Amino acid sequence: MKVKFLGAAISVTGSCHLITTDKYKFLLDCGLFQGSEALEELNYQDLGFKPSEIDFMILSHAHVDHCGRIPLLVKQGFRGPIYCTGATAEIADIMLQDSGNIHEMEAAWSNKRSRRSGLPQVNPLYTQEDAAACAGYFNPVSYGQLFEINSDITLKLNEAGHILGAAIIELWIKEGKKVTKLVYSGDIGVENQRMLNDPTIIEQADYLIMETTYGDRTHETHAESAKRFIDIILKTASREGTVVVPSFALGRTQDLIHELELFYENHEKYKHELDKIMVYIDSPLGINATEIFRRNAEYFNQETRARILKGDDLLNFKNLKFTKSAEESKLLNYNKAPKIIIASSGMADAGRVQHHLKHYLWKPKSSIIFVGYQAEGTLGRSIISGAKYVRILRERILVNAEIYFLEGFSAHADKNYLLEWLSGFKESPRKIFLVHGEEESKKTFANTVKNILGYDCTVVEEVSEYSLDYEEKVSIDDIKNRVDAKEQLIKIKHNLENIHDELDTLLSDTNLMVNETFPQKKITDISNLTSDLEKTYLKLNSIITEKDVQEKESK
Ligand SMILES: [Zn+2]
Repeated sequence: MKVKFLGAAISVTGSCHLITTDKYKFLLDCGLFQGSEALEELNYQDLGFKPSEIDFMILSHAHVDHCGRIPLLVKQGFRGPIYCTGATAEIADIMLQDSGNIHEMEAAWSNKRSRRSGLPQVNPLYTQEDAAACAGYFNPVSYGQLFEINSDITLKLNEAGHILGAAIIELWIKEGKKVTKLVYSGDIGVENQRMLNDPTIIEQADYLIMETTYGDRTHETHAESAKRFIDIILKTASREGTVVVPSFALGRTQDLIHELELFYENHEKYKHELDKIMVYIDSPLGINATEIFRRNAEYFNQETRARILKGDDLLNFKNLKFTKSAEESKLLNYNKAPKIIIASSGMADAGRVQHHLKHYLWKPKSSIIFVGYQAEGTLGRSIISGAKYVRILRERILVNAEIYFLEGFSAHADKNYLLEWLSGFKESPRKIFLVHGEEESKKTFANTVKNILGYDCTVVEEVSEYSLDYEEKVSIDDIKNRVDAKEQLIKIKHNLENIHDELDTLLSDTNLMVNETFPQKKITDISNLTSDLEKTYLKLNSIITEKDVQEKESK
């Protein structure tokens, strides 16, 4: 077996790793390169493999630097399934369509200028329509499920604590009699988040591919950042200024809204001031994040699930407004009142946030707050690095606003937590490949790991291929036979019988439901989902046959 690192090798973006086994070729992620012009140019170059030869893909999560080249794959002949969690499939569809829309707008803009100067016309990298065509390829797999991709490859997706639906990938790959366990960390999140569970600790791997975004630095805690966030808002509002936060409408944004919501509820002292400050989520997608969260309740931690089940209107307080149309978005720049504008993209290199930065960055009254990683070469990176002026939408803009970087809101683990996660392995994997980090970050982390855990790491520095072959045999049964399967089957069968009685009552109750004041859609939804429950029950019951159970009992 071989692994070829095709992206996130020289930089943080463009994640794409090609695995070639004796029978199959598959990809771990296929993301966009983002940042400098030279990096973005890579998106237009050959993918480094024939998409039609790829059997399937596994997607760790829906950030564009991990999924953003899927429309190119499909356009160039990939026809296999893309395995990921259901939430990732749903969010990736939105992210990709947004990305297609941005590519179309950028090409149109550039072509308008080219026509004036007689330069050749360009095509967008891909269109929104190309992106929408990818939805059919996603194949949802739940967290924790052992999923047989084929008779040789078994997949398990684990919670990554990074963004909704993000996964740490475990793979057992059989070649002849040998089974190799490969773990791909995707992006590792942080502990003790408001809404997601902590990243899953993995105990064993033959080979590990690990991210190192913050491999060389520690960041302040979420609580520290949350406190500073509120302080900055109050300070900016007191001088009648506007706060601009570059962030995609689905992701850190919910964290920020949640902080504001909590602050409104718990700090009577500031209530009067905060009441005057509107919060605008400026997104062309007009996403009602609550709806997406509700449909994916199973991905959250206990506390958030409980709130969803209570019908709590998550992330929706009275000062919060979603601006959907471009007109509403433009009007925000004429609105002189102190306010908070949260707009994409998170690294400020595209999207509506560029218009707001053009409008507010040169005003000393404004504050700009970055809440996520800013890759080398992006507008966000220039601003946080202290640039005196920047170019936005081809205009020179002075940086007069107060600039903040609240790393505690980051969805990425810092150096200490990366190390803690890695120390969860009971022994060193045969090889640890460090990817998804700038050079300094990868090298510093490799040194830290050597000093503290004594493990050797391979720092991936360029597009490169490694052989993953060794002689020993390990068994896939190790993961499957921790408990006696037959004993468990008897338990499950017994519980299913109880469920069946409950389900009968539920079905007849649902069928009787009529109420003129109750929305018909809700009744239909309840009725449909109850039927789905019955179908699932029947499927489960037909898989675990009486014979399975009796054989055990008669032994
Ligand atoms: Zn990510």
